Amino acid sequence: MKQKKEINRRQFMKNSSLCIMGGPMLLSHTKRLEKEDATSESPKIKEYRTLGRTGFKVSDIAAGEHHANKAMLEAMLDAGINYIDTAENYGNGRDEIAIGEVIKKRNRKSIFITSKLSLRKKYTKDSLIARTRKCLERLQTDYIDCLMIHACPNVKTVKSKAFHEAMIQLKSEGRVRYVGLSNHGSNWDSDPEESMEKVLLAAAEDGRFDVVLLAYKFMAREMGEKVLKICNEERIGTTLMKTDPISLYLEIKNSVEETKKEGKEVSNYYKNLLSRLEKKSVAGVDFMKQFNLINPKEIQDAAIRFALNNPHVNTVCKTYNNFDDMESYIKLSGSHYSKLSEKKLAVYAQAYGNLYCRHACGLCEPYCPNNVPVNTIMRYNHYFSQKREKHAMLKYANLPTKKADICFSCKGYCETACPYDVPIHGMLIQAHRRLTIA
Ligand code: SF4
Ligand code: SF4
Repeated sequence: MKQKKEINRRQFMKNSSLCIMGGPMLLSHTKRLEKEDATSESPKIKEYRTLGRTGFKVSDIAAGEHHANKAMLEAMLDAGINYIDTAENYGNGRDEIAIGEVIKKRNRKSIFITSKLSLRKKYTKDSLIARTRKCLERLQTDYIDCLMIHACPNVKTVKSKAFHEAMIQLKSEGRVRYVGLSNHGSNWDSDPEESMEKVLLAAAEDGRFDVVLLAYKFMAREMGEKVLKICNEERIGTTLMKTDPISLYLEIKNSVEETKKEGKEVSNYYKNLLSRLEKKSVAGVDFMKQFNLINPKEIQDAAIRFALNNPHVNTVCKTYNNFDDMESYIKLSGSHYSKLSEKKLAVYAQAYGNLYCRHACGLCEPYCPNNVPVNTIMRYNHYFSQKREKHAMLKYANLPTKKADICFSCKGYCETACPYDVPIHGMLIQAHRRLTIA
């Protein structure tokens, strides 16, 4: 049997660099990289957890959206990641195509693949079956381990007759093994009352779902803890997304500086907001010093450890923008959460709690006279922060609702309604500017 070639980060870097070098420069560069190879080791997954009733042992750190880079996908699998999350619409199908190219050379049974179908547009049992067959084609596989309803908008969709009938047929054909759904809170096309908790608890009660994908993080733990506990009781697999807090300190600091640099005239409201944010930035520096935190990365790592520390969590899906991201997340596999980390996170949550718009929330949305989808816009803003600017801006441009430009002339009813005292009025204006480069 042909031996599997391991493509790690260094190998990838080496291959990429060789293409643009030549002669003595190339030789010395290769020698240096080989020397580094001998002294450094790529991190590996250290822990596998049982994914609910599927019984599959999945790596505690998983591969989330964004798989266009095949070399990175190869490196993830080599590092021991065996759970890949994708969807029919990620990169308009390009994510699934890249995954297909990589997994066809691997032991298919050792990898758990989840894909998702959005049920927002009109659909029938037959159209869902046809769309699943397209996913299978792109993935170049005979079966999908778990097929999910993508960002399931409400309890009615949890019960969708067409979806469940399609799944029964696909399961009987061996094309789909398990069924799941994802949710990260209210969406522009659903009732804000249809919270993440409500939708996911309905799915757990329904009994036909084997895996759920949800947003859960220490800054908004109350929104996921109950779901995780019930899923554990029902032996439903749990995969997490959006575990890390936005790098609030840096974002706020940059936003303040950029707005000042632009020299644009701002409303009194926005001036007041900036001053509040500046004060928070100063408090942020004190906070960092007090806890000896060199950069927000430590908070980010602690946030992932916080999620891994919950025994009801089976795996944490991360999006990797580059090899550094990937290695730093994989290093956290199997790691434990110390009392000190717990204290740091508690202090962080207290210091920044009112500057953080919770994902999966939307409690303020019914108070907006213009039906602006606050939660969704702040989610796109989060994608922007994750360095997925194009994706975030495209999503925002395609939002079929009123956008946050309308907030410029509003009194900010959403802000008065937010139970967490988030200055959301100004944050929406800031998000609109970023997402449109206005
Ligand atoms: S502003 Fe407050 S109420 Fe509105 S979505 Fe954010 S956290 Fe929830
Ligand atoms: S600022 Fe006004 S228009 Fe904008 S989301 Fe809040 S209530 Fe709606």
